[in-house]
Amino acid sequence: MNTKPIDLRELSKEEVSALVAELGEKPYRAKQVWEWLWKKHASAIGDMSDLPKSFRAALAERSVLRPLTVAEEQNSTDGTVKCAFRTWDGHVVEGVLIPTQSRITACVSCQVGCSLNCAFCATGQLRRIRNLTAGEIVDQVVNIARMAEERLQRPLTNIVYMGMGEPLLNYANVMGSIAHICAPDGMDMSPRRITVSTAGIAKMIRKLGDDGAKFNLALSLHAPTDAKRGTMMPINDSNNIEELIGALQHYTRLTGKPVTFEYILFRDLNDSLEDARDLARICARLHAKVNLIEYNPTGDGRFQRTPAERADAFRSFLEGKGITARIRRSRGRDIDAACGQLANKNEPALAAGERLLKPAGQKP
Ligand code: SAH
Repeated sequence: MNTKPIDLRELSKEEVSALVAELGEKPYRAKQVWEWLWKKHASAIGDMSDLPKSFRAALAERSVLRPLTVAEEQNSTDGTVKCAFRTWDGHVVEGVLIPTQSRITACVSCQVGCSLNCAFCATGQLRRIRNLTAGEIVDQVVNIARMAEERLQRPLTNIVYMGMGEPLLNYANVMGSIAHICAPDGMDMSPRRITVSTAGIAKMIRKLGDDGAKFNLALSLHAPTDAKRGTMMPINDSNNIEELIGALQHYTRLTGKPVTFEYILFRDLNDSLEDARDLARICARLHAKVNLIEYNPTGDGRFQRTPAERADAFRSFLEGKGITARIRRSRGRDIDAACGQLANKNEPALAAGERLLKPAGQKP
């Protein structure tokens, strides 16, 4: 009898209006429903208290709301809080509240698991199960913002799409979530406070340019040559550095925005001054900045963190070439909430033989 229920938050404004009309309600009710969804973040249709009971009942018969629920919370000694969120269909994704003196940042996931298998990343050991919806991404932001208000009495200032998953492989929902976060009748935040981090999908970076994206873009480069990058990031086989540079130039030309490269320093792998020189050459072509990231160990011991003096020398070399470079210290490491450490233990991991890694130096 009943067909698949409509997830209310998967509807466009026009579709909400059409549904409201179909249920025989006045047009202004559509605006009310919309605000309950995207401004007041109702977790159930029954909570939409200024709608007539009969309308709520009719709405609930036709449609559902599927908010994330908080499954678990872990507090780091540095103030970072990691939240495990459960989806309506039983998966778990993680989001992180990162307070510093000047900012309150929410780090959010965009997929359950990840398909990219980056060798150094804990999420890369999982399978990709499914994309999160725009609503599920917004839920993480809303929950983390509420947590910041309640516990720290401070508003959320920044959002980074640096949790589990690859944002540009869930393009529509990531863009949808950002639209809701920035909409005046949504969370009304500035896109300048949002950063999307990608492992580098050239075609979609071009699309960001074509679509006039207003948020910040960061690209996980991690190595300045294909030979090195290919051993850590299988995605480099189909999206090599030169293709990424071309796509980023297109993006920068159309948006007027520079990009930031993320570069994890791995001891004896990508941390020599020769690597810094190669990286500087790439940055110069794009006027890009660099965030040097401390490696957070994720398990098998294949990678090690670069000693601090070496990291400083790397940074100084870049600065000497006129490139802005900062060393980003990781937060929440004690609770596995730092970059690359998000991995829900309940989701199936790839078996060892399934790892898509190639031995060092092997061509695709
Ligand atoms: N898929 C996206 C966003 C998620 S990761 C991307 O690849 O950019 C966010 C950042 O953390 C990326 O730069 C990623 O490469 C980095 N990261 C992954 N594993 C890490 C680790 N073990 N230590 C430090 N940073 C890591």
